[in-house]
Amino acid sequence: MSKTAARPLRPDIAELDRPALEAALAARGFERFRARQIFGWVYRRGVVDLDAMTDLSRDLRATLAADFTLTTPVIVARERSVDGTEKFLLRLGDGRQIESVFIPDTPGMTFCISTQVGCGMACAFCLTGKMGLLRNLSAGEIAGQVRVLAGALDLGDKPFNIVLMGMGEPLHNYDETMKALRILADEHGLALPPRRVTLSTVGLLPALERLAREPIMPNLAISLHAPTDLQRGELVPINRKYGVAEIIDACKRFPLRKRSRITFEYVILAGVNDAPEDARRLARLLAGVKSKVNLIPLNSAAGIPFERPSDSVVDRFAKILAERGLTVSVRKSRGRDIRAACGQLIVEGQRKSPAQQLATLAFGTPQR
Ligand code: SAH
Repeated sequence: MSKTAARPLRPDIAELDRPALEAALAARGFERFRARQIFGWVYRRGVVDLDAMTDLSRDLRATLAADFTLTTPVIVARERSVDGTEKFLLRLGDGRQIESVFIPDTPGMTFCISTQVGCGMACAFCLTGKMGLLRNLSAGEIAGQVRVLAGALDLGDKPFNIVLMGMGEPLHNYDETMKALRILADEHGLALPPRRVTLSTVGLLPALERLAREPIMPNLAISLHAPTDLQRGELVPINRKYGVAEIIDACKRFPLRKRSRITFEYVILAGVNDAPEDARRLARLLAGVKSKVNLIPLNSAAGIPFERPSDSVVDRFAKILAERGLTVSVRKSRGRDIRAACGQLIVEGQRKSPAQQLATLAFGTPQR
Protein backbone atom coordinates (compact mmCIF):
# COMPACT_ATOMS: atom_id res chain seq x y z
CA MET A 1 0.00 0.00 0.00
CA SER A 2 1.44 3.32 -0.98
CA LYS A 3 1.24 6.11 1.57
CA THR A 4 1.80 8.78 -1.06
CA ALA A 5 -1.06 11.29 -1.31
CA ALA A 6 -3.74 10.47 -3.89
CA ARG A 7 -3.01 12.06 -7.23
CA PRO A 8 -5.50 14.46 -8.78
CA LEU A 9 -6.95 13.31 -12.08
CA ARG A 10 -5.42 16.24 -13.92
CA PRO A 11 -1.67 15.62 -14.20
CA ASP A 12 0.26 17.75 -11.74
CA ILE A 13 3.26 19.29 -13.48
CA ALA A 14 5.14 19.21 -10.16
CA GLU A 15 4.93 15.41 -10.24
CA LEU A 16 6.18 14.93 -13.80
CA ASP A 17 9.78 14.44 -14.78
CA ARG A 18 10.58 15.99 -18.15
CA PRO A 19 10.07 12.83 -20.26
CA ALA A 20 6.66 12.36 -18.63
CA LEU A 21 5.74 16.00 -19.29
CA GLU A 22 6.89 15.63 -22.90
CA ALA A 23 4.67 12.58 -23.30
CA ALA A 24 1.69 14.35 -21.73
CA LEU A 25 2.15 17.31 -24.07
CA ALA A 26 2.62 15.10 -27.13
CA ALA A 27 -0.57 13.23 -26.26
CA ARG A 28 -2.38 16.55 -26.50
CA GLY A 29 -0.81 17.47 -29.85
CA PHE A 30 1.96 19.81 -28.67
CA GLU A 31 5.66 19.67 -29.48
CA ARG A 32 7.75 17.77 -26.93
CA PHE A 33 10.28 20.57 -26.56
CA ARG A 34 7.63 22.75 -24.91
CA ALA A 35 8.40 20.69 -21.80
CA ARG A 36 11.82 22.38 -21.67
CA GLN A 37 10.22 25.79 -21.64
CA ILE A 38 7.81 24.75 -18.91
CA PHE A 39 10.65 23.29 -16.82
CA GLY A 40 12.51 26.58 -17.21
CA TRP A 41 9.51 28.51 -15.93
CA VAL A 42 8.81 26.21 -12.99
CA TYR A 43 12.32 25.40 -11.79
CA ARG A 44 14.46 28.33 -12.93
CA ARG A 45 12.07 31.21 -12.70
CA GLY A 46 10.07 29.83 -9.81
CA VAL A 47 6.65 30.33 -11.38
CA VAL A 48 3.81 28.74 -9.38
CA ASP A 49 1.00 29.91 -11.64
CA LEU A 50 0.55 28.12 -14.95
CA ASP A 51 -0.82 31.28 -16.50
CA ALA A 52 2.43 33.17 -15.90
CA MET A 53 4.32 31.29 -18.62
CA THR A 54 4.03 34.15 -21.04
CA ASP A 55 6.15 32.82 -23.90
CA LEU A 56 3.89 29.83 -24.47
CA SER A 57 1.20 30.00 -27.11
CA ARG A 58 -2.31 30.96 -26.05
CA ASP A 59 -3.36 27.48 -27.11
CA LEU A 60 -0.87 25.71 -24.91
CA ARG A 61 -1.65 27.95 -21.97
CA ALA A 62 -5.33 27.17 -22.32
CA THR A 63 -4.54 23.44 -22.39
CA LEU A 64 -2.31 23.75 -19.34
CA ALA A 65 -5.02 25.61 -17.47
CA ALA A 66 -7.71 23.10 -18.40
CA ASP A 67 -5.80 19.82 -18.28
CA PHE A 68 -2.97 20.26 -15.76
CA THR A 69 -2.31 21.53 -12.27
CA LEU A 70 0.85 22.76 -10.57
CA THR A 71 0.90 22.11 -6.84
CA THR A 72 3.42 24.02 -4.75
CA PRO A 73 3.92 23.80 -0.98
CA VAL A 74 2.82 26.97 0.81
CA ILE A 75 4.95 28.73 3.42
CA VAL A 76 2.97 28.85 6.68
CA ALA A 77 5.74 30.14 8.91
CA ARG A 78 9.34 31.16 8.58
CA GLU A 79 11.76 31.54 11.49
CA ARG A 80 15.28 32.89 11.43
CA SER A 81 17.97 31.80 13.86
CA VAL A 82 20.63 34.14 15.24
CA ASP A 83 23.13 32.15 13.14
CA GLY A 84 21.24 32.84 9.90
CA THR A 85 19.64 29.40 9.64
CA GLU A 86 16.01 29.63 8.56
CA LYS A 87 13.29 27.09 9.23
CA PHE A 88 10.28 26.93 6.96
CA LEU A 89 6.98 25.34 7.92
CA LEU A 90 5.29 24.28 4.69
CA ARG A 91 1.71 23.19 4.04
CA LEU A 92 1.11 20.48 1.45
CA GLY A 93 -1.86 19.98 -0.84
CA ASP A 94 -3.70 17.78 1.68
CA GLY A 95 -3.10 20.15 4.59
CA ARG A 96 -0.28 18.13 6.16
CA GLN A 97 2.76 20.13 7.21
CA ILE A 98 6.48 19.57 6.97
CA GLU A 99 9.63 21.52 7.79
CA SER A 100 12.56 22.43 5.57
CA VAL A 101 15.66 24.29 6.64
CA PHE A 102 18.03 26.72 4.93
CA ILE A 103 21.58 26.70 6.29
CA PRO A 104 23.89 29.46 5.00
CA ASP A 105 27.70 29.41 4.96
CA THR A 106 28.36 25.68 5.18
CA PRO A 107 30.61 26.98 3.34
CA GLY A 108 28.07 27.03 0.50
CA MET A 109 24.34 27.29 0.95
CA THR A 110 22.42 24.21 1.93
CA PHE A 111 18.78 23.20 1.93
CA CYS A 112 17.82 20.48 4.38
CA ILE A 113 14.84 18.77 2.79
CA SER A 114 12.20 16.34 4.10
CA THR A 115 11.19 13.12 2.36
CA GLN A 116 8.27 12.03 4.58
CA VAL A 117 5.70 13.58 6.89
CA GLY A 118 7.11 12.29 10.18
CA CYS A 119 9.31 9.19 10.13
CA GLY A 120 8.80 5.50 10.84
CA MET A 121 12.34 4.73 12.01
CA ALA A 122 11.75 5.79 15.64
CA CYS A 123 15.41 6.46 16.45
CA ALA A 124 15.57 6.87 20.22
CA PHE A 125 17.11 10.36 20.21
CA CYS A 126 15.18 11.93 17.30
CA LEU A 127 12.17 14.14 17.77
CA THR A 128 10.82 13.53 14.25
CA GLY A 129 10.81 9.82 15.11
CA LYS A 130 8.29 10.59 17.87
CA MET A 131 5.76 11.66 15.23
CA GLY A 132 5.66 8.25 13.60
CA LEU A 133 5.26 8.02 9.84
CA LEU A 134 2.18 9.92 8.68
CA ARG A 135 2.83 9.54 4.96
CA ASN A 136 5.44 9.60 2.23
CA LEU A 137 6.06 12.79 0.32
CA SER A 138 5.59 12.69 -3.44
CA ALA A 139 8.46 13.58 -5.77
CA GLY A 140 6.74 16.89 -6.47
CA GLU A 141 6.55 17.67 -2.76
CA ILE A 142 10.24 16.82 -2.27
CA ALA A 143 11.42 18.88 -5.25
CA GLY A 144 8.77 21.49 -4.37
CA GLN A 145 10.56 22.30 -1.10
CA VAL A 146 13.62 23.26 -3.14
CA ARG A 147 11.51 25.42 -5.47
CA VAL A 148 9.87 27.18 -2.56
CA LEU A 149 13.05 27.80 -0.55
CA ALA A 150 15.03 28.95 -3.59
CA GLY A 151 12.20 31.35 -4.43
CA ALA A 152 11.73 32.67 -0.90
CA LEU A 153 15.45 33.22 -0.38
CA ASP A 154 15.96 34.77 -3.78
CA LEU A 155 19.27 33.03 -4.30
CA GLY A 156 19.45 33.94 -7.96
CA ASP A 157 21.78 31.63 -9.82
CA LYS A 158 23.99 30.89 -6.83
CA PRO A 159 24.80 27.21 -6.40
CA PHE A 160 23.39 25.38 -3.42
CA ASN A 161 23.60 21.95 -1.83
CA ILE A 162 20.82 19.67 -0.75
CA VAL A 163 20.91 17.32 2.19
CA LEU A 164 18.08 14.83 2.57
CA MET A 165 18.28 15.16 6.34
CA GLY A 166 14.98 16.78 7.15
CA MET A 167 11.99 14.76 8.28
CA GLY A 168 11.82 11.18 7.14
CA GLU A 169 13.96 8.32 5.94
CA PRO A 170 14.67 8.84 2.22
CA LEU A 171 15.29 5.16 1.45
CA HIS A 172 11.93 4.32 3.04
CA ASN A 173 10.39 6.43 0.27
CA TYR A 174 12.74 5.30 -2.44
CA ASP A 175 10.92 5.83 -5.72
CA GLU A 176 9.63 9.33 -5.00
CA THR A 177 12.99 10.43 -3.59
CA MET A 178 14.88 9.24 -6.66
CA LYS A 179 12.31 10.77 -8.97
CA ALA A 180 12.70 14.09 -7.17
CA LEU A 181 16.48 13.92 -7.64
CA ARG A 182 15.96 13.26 -11.36
CA ILE A 183 13.65 16.26 -11.63
CA LEU A 184 16.11 18.49 -9.73
CA ALA A 185 19.01 17.30 -11.89
CA ASP A 186 17.23 18.06 -15.17
CA GLU A 187 19.38 20.31 -17.33
CA HIS A 188 16.39 22.41 -18.35
CA GLY A 189 15.29 22.88 -14.76
CA LEU A 190 17.48 23.51 -11.72
CA ALA A 191 20.27 21.35 -13.19
CA LEU A 192 21.35 20.38 -9.68
CA PRO A 193 24.40 18.10 -9.99
CA PRO A 194 24.07 14.89 -7.93
CA ARG A 195 27.42 15.64 -6.25
CA ARG A 196 25.65 18.58 -4.57
CA VAL A 197 23.11 16.22 -3.01
CA THR A 198 23.68 14.13 0.13
CA LEU A 199 21.28 11.36 1.02
CA SER A 200 21.34 10.40 4.69
CA THR A 201 19.96 7.03 5.71
CA VAL A 202 19.73 4.61 8.62
CA GLY A 203 20.86 1.99 6.10
CA LEU A 204 17.85 0.10 4.78
CA LEU A 205 19.86 -2.63 3.14
CA PRO A 206 17.79 -3.63 0.07
CA ALA A 207 17.27 0.03 -0.82
CA LEU A 208 20.96 0.79 -0.27
CA GLU A 209 21.85 -1.96 -2.71
CA ARG A 210 19.38 -0.59 -5.20
CA LEU A 211 20.85 2.89 -4.79
CA ALA A 212 24.27 1.50 -5.70
CA ARG A 213 22.92 0.83 -9.21
CA GLU A 214 21.30 4.23 -9.84
CA PRO A 215 22.43 6.44 -12.71
CA ILE A 216 21.92 9.55 -10.56
CA MET A 217 24.16 9.03 -7.56
CA PRO A 218 23.97 11.39 -4.58
CA ASN A 219 26.63 11.44 -1.88
CA LEU A 220 25.88 8.92 0.80
CA ALA A 221 25.70 9.48 4.56
CA ILE A 222 25.00 6.58 6.90
CA SER A 223 23.50 7.26 10.31
CA LEU A 224 25.59 4.76 12.23
CA HIS A 225 25.63 6.12 15.80
CA ALA A 226 27.16 3.01 17.39
CA PRO A 227 29.82 0.44 16.51
CA THR A 228 28.03 -2.71 17.76
CA ASP A 229 24.62 -4.25 17.08
CA LEU A 230 23.89 -4.33 20.79
CA GLN A 231 24.27 -0.55 21.15
CA ARG A 232 22.88 0.38 17.76
CA GLY A 233 19.80 -1.81 18.17
CA GLU A 234 18.83 0.30 21.19
CA LEU A 235 19.18 3.57 19.30
CA VAL A 236 18.08 2.69 15.77
CA PRO A 237 15.37 0.00 15.95
CA ILE A 238 15.73 -1.03 12.28
CA ASN A 239 19.23 -2.27 13.17
CA ARG A 240 17.56 -5.41 14.51
CA LYS A 241 16.69 -6.17 10.89
CA TYR A 242 19.76 -4.84 9.07
CA GLY A 243 22.81 -5.06 11.31
CA VAL A 244 26.05 -3.13 11.47
CA ALA A 245 28.21 -5.72 9.66
CA GLU A 246 25.79 -5.96 6.73
CA ILE A 247 25.62 -2.19 6.36
CA ILE A 248 29.40 -1.80 6.45
CA ASP A 249 29.69 -4.59 3.88
CA ALA A 250 27.25 -2.83 1.56
CA CYS A 251 29.25 0.39 2.04
CA LYS A 252 32.46 -1.36 1.02
CA ARG A 253 30.78 -2.44 -2.20
CA PHE A 254 29.13 0.93 -2.85
CA PRO A 255 30.42 2.57 -6.05
CA LEU A 256 31.95 5.94 -5.25
CA ARG A 257 33.02 8.79 -7.44
CA LYS A 258 36.73 9.53 -7.55
CA ARG A 259 37.95 10.99 -4.29
CA SER A 260 34.53 10.74 -2.74
CA ARG A 261 33.80 8.98 0.55
CA ILE A 262 30.87 7.82 2.58
CA THR A 263 30.03 9.97 5.58
CA PHE A 264 29.24 8.11 8.79
CA GLU A 265 27.09 10.18 11.10
CA TYR A 266 27.47 9.48 14.78
CA VAL A 267 25.22 11.25 17.26
CA ILE A 268 27.20 11.31 20.50
CA LEU A 269 25.16 10.59 23.60
CA ALA A 270 26.62 11.03 27.07
CA GLY A 271 27.37 7.69 28.73
CA VAL A 272 25.81 5.69 25.88
CA ASN A 273 28.21 5.64 22.92
CA ASP A 274 30.90 8.15 23.88
CA ALA A 275 33.48 5.93 25.60
CA PRO A 276 37.06 5.61 24.30
CA GLU A 277 36.35 1.93 23.65
CA ASP A 278 33.43 2.91 21.39
CA ALA A 279 35.75 5.14 19.40
CA ARG A 280 38.34 2.36 19.06
CA ARG A 281 35.64 -0.08 17.94
CA LEU A 282 34.35 2.45 15.42
CA ALA A 283 37.83 2.94 14.02
CA ARG A 284 38.27 -0.82 13.59
CA LEU A 285 34.86 -1.11 11.96
CA LEU A 286 35.62 1.60 9.41
CA ALA A 287 39.11 0.37 8.53
CA GLY A 288 39.02 -0.34 4.81
CA VAL A 289 35.94 1.80 4.14
CA LYS A 290 36.39 5.02 2.20
CA SER A 291 34.87 7.04 4.97
CA LYS A 292 34.74 10.21 6.94
CA VAL A 293 33.10 10.47 10.32
CA ASN A 294 30.76 13.27 11.27
CA LEU A 295 30.28 13.47 15.01
CA ILE A 296 27.01 15.11 15.99
CA PRO A 297 26.78 16.12 19.65
CA LEU A 298 23.17 15.43 20.61
CA ASN A 299 20.71 18.25 20.19
CA SER A 300 18.63 17.72 23.26
CA ALA A 301 14.92 18.34 23.50
CA ALA A 302 12.10 17.69 25.93
CA GLY A 303 11.09 14.05 25.61
CA ILE A 304 14.53 12.89 24.43
CA PRO A 305 15.98 10.72 27.21
CA PHE A 306 19.65 11.41 26.48
CA GLU A 307 22.22 14.05 27.20
CA ARG A 308 24.82 15.84 25.20
CA PRO A 309 28.36 14.96 26.29
CA SER A 310 30.80 17.69 27.26
CA ASP A 311 33.03 19.20 24.60
CA SER A 312 36.05 17.49 26.11
CA VAL A 313 34.41 14.07 25.75
CA VAL A 314 33.57 14.84 22.12
CA ASP A 315 37.17 16.00 21.52
CA ARG A 316 38.59 12.89 23.13
CA PHE A 317 36.36 10.72 20.91
CA ALA A 318 37.38 12.63 17.78
CA LYS A 319 41.06 12.42 18.72
CA ILE A 320 40.97 8.63 19.05
CA LEU A 321 39.45 8.35 15.57
CA ALA A 322 41.91 10.81 14.06
CA GLU A 323 44.88 9.00 15.62
CA ARG A 324 43.73 5.89 13.79
CA GLY A 325 43.80 7.65 10.44
CA LEU A 326 40.12 8.55 10.10
CA THR A 327 38.91 11.91 8.85
CA VAL A 328 36.68 13.37 11.54
CA SER A 329 34.53 16.46 11.76
CA VAL A 330 32.26 17.63 14.53
CA ARG A 331 28.98 18.97 13.25
CA LYS A 332 28.31 22.46 14.35
CA SER A 333 24.78 22.72 15.56
CA ARG A 334 22.80 25.27 13.57
CA GLY A 335 19.48 26.87 14.31
CA ARG A 336 19.05 25.35 17.75
CA ASP A 337 17.29 28.47 19.04
CA ILE A 338 14.49 27.91 16.51
CA ARG A 339 14.53 24.11 16.86
CA ALA A 340 15.82 23.67 13.33
CA ALA A 341 18.84 21.54 14.29
CA CYS A 342 19.26 17.85 13.43
CA GLY A 343 16.56 15.70 14.94
CA GLN A 344 14.55 18.68 16.14
CA LEU A 345 12.10 18.91 13.26
CA ILE A 346 8.61 18.09 14.41
CA VAL A 347 5.26 19.47 13.45
CA GLU A 348 3.09 19.82 16.53
CA GLY A 349 -0.43 18.51 16.38
CA GLN A 350 0.57 15.86 13.88
CA ARG A 351 2.05 13.37 16.32
CA LYS A 352 0.62 9.92 16.17
CA SER A 353 -0.95 8.38 19.23
CA PRO A 354 1.28 5.78 20.94
CA ALA A 355 -0.87 3.01 19.47
CA GLN A 356 -0.44 4.36 15.95
CA GLN A 357 3.29 4.62 16.53
CA LEU A 358 3.51 0.99 17.50
CA ALA A 359 1.63 0.07 14.35
CA THR A 360 4.18 1.98 12.28
CA LEU A 361 7.02 0.17 13.98
CA ALA A 362 5.49 -3.22 13.48
CA PHE A 363 4.46 -2.76 9.89
CA GLY A 364 6.70 0.03 8.75
CA THR A 365 9.10 -2.15 6.80
CA PRO A 366 10.71 -0.44 3.84
CA GLN A 367 8.52 -0.17 0.78
CA ARG A 368 10.19 -0.81 -2.50
N1 SAH B 1 16.44 9.39 8.33
C1 SAH B 1 17.70 9.85 7.84
C2 SAH B 1 17.78 11.35 7.62
C3 SAH B 1 17.24 12.31 8.68
S1 SAH B 1 18.12 12.69 10.14
C4 SAH B 1 18.81 9.40 8.72
O1 SAH B 1 18.53 8.89 9.81
O2 SAH B 1 19.96 9.50 8.33
C5 SAH B 1 19.60 13.51 9.81
C6 SAH B 1 20.64 13.23 10.92
O3 SAH B 1 20.30 13.87 12.16
C7 SAH B 1 20.76 11.74 11.21
O4 SAH B 1 22.09 11.35 11.28
C8 SAH B 1 20.09 11.66 12.57
O5 SAH B 1 20.48 10.54 13.26
C9 SAH B 1 20.51 12.96 13.20
N2 SAH B 1 19.74 13.27 14.42
C10 SAH B 1 18.49 12.87 14.74
N3 SAH B 1 18.14 13.33 15.95
C11 SAH B 1 19.16 14.05 16.42
C12 SAH B 1 19.40 14.80 17.62
N4 SAH B 1 18.47 14.89 18.57
N5 SAH B 1 20.58 15.41 17.76
C13 SAH B 1 21.52 15.34 16.79
N6 SAH B 1 21.35 14.67 15.64
C14 SAH B 1 20.19 14.02 15.45
